[in-house]
Amino acid sequence: MDPISGNLSSAVRGLVGERVDVIDEQALLQALNSTPVMEGRKQDLWADDAVLRRWAREHGGSGEATELDRLRQARDLLQAATYGPVPEADMRRVFTGVHRLPEVDASGLRWRLTGPPERMLAVELVLAWFDVQERRPGRLRPCGNDECRLFLLDRSRANTARWCSMKTCGNRLKARRHQERARREPGT
Ligand SMILES: [Zn+2]
Repeated sequence: MDPISGNLSSAVRGLVGERVDVIDEQALLQALNSTPVMEGRKQDLWADDAVLRRWAREHGGSGEATELDRLRQARDLLQAATYGPVPEADMRRVFTGVHRLPEVDASGLRWRLTGPPERMLAVELVLAWFDVQERRPGRLRPCGNDECRLFLLDRSRANTARWCSMKTCGNRLKARRHQERARREPGT
């Protein structure tokens, strides 16, 4: 079995308690990939309140305006961090006023995350990013196509994936290289 498969690590699962709607890898990728390039221009799918509100509610948020703003900020921050380097001061600001509280009951110890309610979903998104960095170092990265603004999470053993999608960027780049080669070497 792939040792790095599975969901969020126990560290983050502990942080968010028993919530079943935690931000997992797929939700993190959706967030990072919410600014695709379409017809040569960068779009922001999350600029649409309705789209982002749906995402927020699917992951346990309220969908209120301040929460959406915090999510957009966190998304921008995580995109920048994935391109690198990590904007440390901005990252720290996300966690202002956020605490982890130990709670003990018959089932044992649980850590509950508390903080300003309108910020918690953005906090969880950032925690999910750090969790992936820790469990899958170097595997969350920008697509190898410079004109693409998407990110990929390489779960393969070989860790050689370069494109957000072989169908789109992979084939496009292959076709372009083929054309360039054909131009350079006419008759081949
Ligand atoms: Zn791509």
